This record gives sequence, structure tokens and C-alpha cells, in this order.
Amino acid sequence: MTRKLLIHQCCAVCSASFFERIPSGFRVSGFWFNPNIERSCESLKRETALREFNAIKGVETLGLRGDAHKISAAQTSPMLPRPQRCRTCYKIRMDETARVAAESGFEAFSTTLLASPYQEHESAKAAAEDAARRFGVGFVYIDSRDIYYDGKRFAVLNRLYSQKYCGCAMSLAERLASGK
Ligand code: SF4
Repeated sequence: MTRKLLIHQCCAVCSASFFERIPSGFRVSGFWFNPNIERSCESLKRETALREFNAIKGVETLGLRGDAHKISAAQTSPMLPRPQRCRTCYKIRMDETARVAAESGFEAFSTTLLASPYQEHESAKAAAEDAARRFGVGFVYIDSRDIYYDGKRFAVLNRLYSQKYCGCAMSLAERLASGK
């Protein structure tokens, strides 16, 4: 029997490599929930690219459009160094994904956060495992960091927006300070 898998998607770039590693036997739905992104225009660019990616793959996109899920930036991504602030950020996103998965009849969920070599991988995995336990739904661990740059190439080829910073105000400030 085909099982339903809800994929929390942070962006199109991470999704591109991640989707190559999803095990067979699942019917996949995408889930847009990233209230951590500084600047509405940036959030909109990522969401648009994500919906374009899902259209290419023939995957439905769940989640509220635009900034409708926006919550306090201080709550999502407190002004702390990494990885401390990221743990809070991951927890909020994994809790919501697990809640939606459990309430909507999905057997399991996962997250494209696990695709990026720039994320705190073990913290994201731990947040997902903890959410799965508390909400009574499965978690499928997938690691596609080794093909992350294939995803980047896919995004370029398909003219999908590729962001320059992780999301929160501090990550934007760090990016600007790096001069890259
Ligand atoms: S750096 Fe990224 S994962 Fe960490 S708190 Fe900021 S937006 Fe969240």
C-alpha cells in the first residue's frame, strides 16, 4: 500500500537534491512553513520557486500562502549565535510539520533542511525525531548533502530562485558581513 509522506520544504534548491533520495513507495506532498525568513519579499521569492519546483515534479504544495504563517522573528530565530538559535528555529518548523502530518493522515514526514551542508544537520534531525515522537507520526531520515550541488545546478537550469542567506535577520547580517 502506498504511504503518504509530508515533506517540509525550506526552498527549491534543497528540495531538488532531496527529492532524488526519497525512498520509493511513498506518495509525497510538499509543505511550505518557514516563518523564519527576514523580509517578506525574500519569503515570497522562495515560496514562488518552491511552488514552481513542485509543479515540475507534479507534487502538491500544502501550507499557507505568503506571510500568512508569519510569527515573531524573535520567537522563531532568537538573537543567539549558531547553533543555539537554529535549534529553536528547527523545533518550530518540525513541530508544525509533524502536527500537520499527524492531523492530515500522513504516515510520516521529513524535511529538506537535511539536504543542506550549511544547516546544523544533527540539530535538525534531532528536532524532527523529537517532533515525530511527541505528535505520534513517523519521521523518514534522508541525507542528500553529498548531492546538494546537483540541486543547485537543477535550480539554475530551471531558472528557480536561489537564496543567498539562510533566513533570519542574523543570518542575513552574517552574510552581508562576509562580503560574499
Ligand atoms: S540561521 Fe537559518 S536555521 Fe538558523 S536560526 Fe537563522 S534561519 Fe533558522
